[in-house]
Amino acid sequence: MNYYNEMNLHILAVSENESFARAVVGAFCLPLKPSLEDIADIKTAVSEAVTNSVVHAYPNKKGYIDIYVAIKDCTIAIEIKDYGVGIVDVQKAKQPFFTSLKNSERSGMGFTVMEGFMDQVTVDSIPGQGTTVRMQKTITNLKTAFGG
Ligand code: ATP
Ligand code: MG
Repeated sequence: MNYYNEMNLHILAVSENESFARAVVGAFCLPLKPSLEDIADIKTAVSEAVTNSVVHAYPNKKGYIDIYVAIKDCTIAIEIKDYGVGIVDVQKAKQPFFTSLKNSERSGMGFTVMEGFMDQVTVDSIPGQGTTVRMQKTITNLKTAFGG
């Protein structure tokens, strides 16, 4: 297989764009003929990262999210970036059940879900400048691998 494709999506950090972003990234992966499970995993991970930018990054102002996706053969690399408040302690933020929004419906499981559904997740954040989540997943679709 010798497949390559890239895309950029620049969207406002508002909740309507959570489902929009997950649908766009999901659709962009379709040429790889991913299994329903793989596509669901990718959409869920994208949803969690975008939701974080919507919910946490811009508490009192309008802001943007940039999504970049590159597909090379069976590997999908996704970057989700905001320019918001950032995260002071990334290690702590990634712990299961850690949330800075206690007393809300947040369960603190977003990063844990991303790590569970993707092969690789890295988080880079600078307080006051923003957060970038990079995720990677290799699709294991026998049909694709054997050209079917
Ligand atoms: P849940 O995702 O289960 O609804 P949550 O969003 O609080 O809850 P995580 O997604 O794991 O849990 O994120 C953990 C914490 O990391 C958040 O509570 C928040 O403090 C911080 N955080 C995550 N993403 C961002 C971001 N893009 N900008 C600023 N802070 C963030
Ligand atoms: Mg979250």
